[in-house]
Amino acid sequence: MSEFDLIEAYFKPLSSQGGFLCLGIGDDAAIIALSELVSQDRPLKQELVIASDTLNSDVHFPADLNAADIAYRSIMANLSDMAAMGAKPLGYQLQLSLPEIDSSWLAEFTKGLSEATSIALMGGDTTKGPLSIAITCLGLCEQGQALRRSQAQVGDRIFHSGKLGMGAQGLRDVLDHRKSEAQRWFCRPQAPLALGQSLVGYASSCIDVSDGLVADLGHIAKASHVTARIDIERLALNPEAPDQRLALNDALVGGDDYQLCFTISDERYQAWQKAFPCFTQSLTEIGMITSVKNVAQVELWYHGKPYHLENKGYEHFA
Ligand code: ADP
Ligand code: MG
Repeated sequence: MSEFDLIEAYFKPLSSQGGFLCLGIGDDAAIIALSELVSQDRPLKQELVIASDTLNSDVHFPADLNAADIAYRSIMANLSDMAAMGAKPLGYQLQLSLPEIDSSWLAEFTKGLSEATSIALMGGDTTKGPLSIAITCLGLCEQGQALRRSQAQVGDRIFHSGKLGMGAQGLRDVLDHRKSEAQRWFCRPQAPLALGQSLVGYASSCIDVSDGLVADLGHIAKASHVTARIDIERLALNPEAPDQRLALNDALVGGDDYQLCFTISDERYQAWQKAFPCFTQSLTEIGMITSVKNVAQVELWYHGKPYHLENKGYEHFA
């Protein structure tokens, strides 16, 4: 099978043409009709949100992981960034590096993509090399409304969605061939897109938790020039975890949770809760923005005492 047959057979079906996508796959570039993107009543009052993520074999997933799960994780990493911005995803491009053309692997891979999302594949590139999946996702947000990391204020309450530490335990379970809720989350994480969109106009800052809560909340603290205090006994952890200390450590410094962490003033929180009562249950309140500091930081407290952390989260080049 040639590269072109492969694109025709596996990728073209994921590129639904029509609407804003004038031309998806099959030419030198894709074409998007801007006039179709903006809502009729508020033309030009929208912004394009763009995010990229690369997943490399044996760094972000075990090489022998099922191709559908690899695809699912790859697109969810991007959709998680869209959720963190409060954006509505539109479509994505796929830069795929493959060691060989394996039809059954590709069939599984594209099945995983279509199970993860119905947004259109808008082209990409295919090359030969070690297995690597790079995706660039496009989304839309109302002008000036995207959730950023930089607007957390003293007194804001801090929340996270879902359960933290599932990604780290899930990877161990996958490697040990153990079936568990964490293993299912690792293979099929669900980016909280609807939650992210609901927070637009309410949250003062937001980030997706992909490198551990301490590192990611640290990005909010740094961008907003504030100190974030969290009481770590409040975190919602993996209920099936064999060891609570390990579960806590996974939540603080483990990767791949794809949950949201956000800050919100008390007043806005009350209003948001009234507007979106359906999301309240999936959230856990974990602390507060306490002060403006020159040295932005995350302070950890455990049952009222300062908690010292040795390992601070995953860094690729550390
Ligand atoms: P060119 O050589 O002009 O860059 P390609 O042969 O790489 O064109 O790609 C042909 C068409 O197939 C393009 O429309 C491109 O967007 C699409 N395409 C190639 N690889 C992928 C992929 N992995 N996923 C989606 N579309 C792809
Ligand atoms: Mg090309």
